[in-house]
Amino acid sequence: MAHIKSCLLKFNKAVNINKRYIACLSALSETHQMLQKTCRDFAEGELKPIAAKIDREHLYPKEQIKKMGELGLMAIAVPEELGGSGLDYQAYAIALEEISRGCASSGVIMSVNNSLYLGPIHKWGTPEQKEKFIRPFTDGDKVGCFALSEPGNGSDAGAASTTAKEEGGNYLISGTKSWITNGYESEAGVVMATTDKSLKHKGISAIIVPKPIQGLELGKKEDKLGIRGSSTCALMFDNCKVPKENLLGQPGMGFKIAMVTLDSGRIGIASQALGIAQASLEVAAEYASKRLAFGKSLLKLQTIQNKLADMAVQLEAARLLNWRAAWLKDNKQPYTKEAAMAKLAASEAATFLSHQCIQILGGMGYVSDMPAERFYRDARITEIYEGTSEIQRLVIAGNLIKELGLN
Ligand SMILES: Cc1cc2nc3c(=O)[nH]c(=O)nc-3n(C[C@H](O)[C@H](O)[C@H](O)COP(=O)(O)OP(=O)(O)OC[C@H]3O[C@@H](n4cnc5c(N)ncnc54)[C@H](O)[C@@H]3O)c2cc1C
Repeated sequence: MAHIKSCLLKFNKAVNINKRYIACLSALSETHQMLQKTCRDFAEGELKPIAAKIDREHLYPKEQIKKMGELGLMAIAVPEELGGSGLDYQAYAIALEEISRGCASSGVIMSVNNSLYLGPIHKWGTPEQKEKFIRPFTDGDKVGCFALSEPGNGSDAGAASTTAKEEGGNYLISGTKSWITNGYESEAGVVMATTDKSLKHKGISAIIVPKPIQGLELGKKEDKLGIRGSSTCALMFDNCKVPKENLLGQPGMGFKIAMVTLDSGRIGIASQALGIAQASLEVAAEYASKRLAFGKSLLKLQTIQNKLADMAVQLEAARLLNWRAAWLKDNKQPYTKEAAMAKLAASEAATFLSHQCIQILGGMGYVSDMPAERFYRDARITEIYEGTSEIQRLVIAGNLIKELGLN
């Protein structure tokens, strides 16, 4: 039996961890508050005014992404020595929510560069890879991408059919990666390809591919429902020669790298969803305060108040889940289940809140003069990429069953 002193020590440690944890959920640190204000001001001044236009015209917000890089938002968790902001993941969650509140397209561009591209290179890259593929991607000048999905497999990511054959000092990559965010603008990507088919998902490797490069062609820009300011396209590899020194981690580590990367990525997508949800709540409440029906403002009607209350509860519950997941990551605790919970709750909240926002605006919710219909279109993707809601439920249930000792 453990000595009482060691039990007390453990208990005190847990209490201290919980105290810090509760503090982080109820009151943001000064750094986080300042960051939140900076991002909110930036989103109000620079992103909100262009969000409808870039959506309508499918325009990549190059100038705004550059400014976000100058603010340090394109490499938030990368150490300062490598050109990043050296902040934590809670900072990332807070900043990305504010950016997405102004423009969800800018949010996804930021999210892919931070968590899906820079994240794995920072964690598994060699010093040379970090110098070459992190530093130039921190200031908004260049962005990266992450290529896991294929035409034949999305949720079942372990079934990748893209191959990387060793030849001399190179890999020859062949196959098609689909749905790649930042596919058009990115100047490098982390690409998953099978180096040993006999090992199935344990034969997948992660390779850093610079772009443009011979043997890589881009598919058409996908004509999407939402987040239309970000580009999405297929990457078609045909014996694309990449030096072996671009292998990330060890051969066969690609699937693990992808899964760990997606755990962090889900905190990013949850933040994007929260930004859309927050914007929906604000637009709905503001409209309700001005619109008159039956001689009084909509805001005075209990049915509308009920809607606003339900919206606020879903939003704030999801935000707390997301900050918890970020806190766990920052404190080097397991967070796979918590990130999946945050992404599931936040993406479903974004769909619910944007739907209610349209309802509260009535006819004005249905036309593009108001942003409600864009919020609704933007929200839907958060339930699909980086693992659909069905996949998040599988991750949560799998972890829950393990925790309960029932497997
Ligand atoms: C705009 C956009 C941007 C994207 N960006 C990227 C990117 O940058 N990089 C990248 O690699 N990928 C990207 N994706 C791909 C995205 O991650 C996949 O679309 C997603 O994982 C779902 O895969 P799928 O489309 O093949 O759907 P499928 O896997 O075919 O799933 C279809 C349906 O079946 C359900 N389903 C599948 N398996 C199960 C199961 N075991 N149990 C229960 N239900 C299941 C799904 O939940 C879904 O409802 C992007 C996609 C879009 C649309």
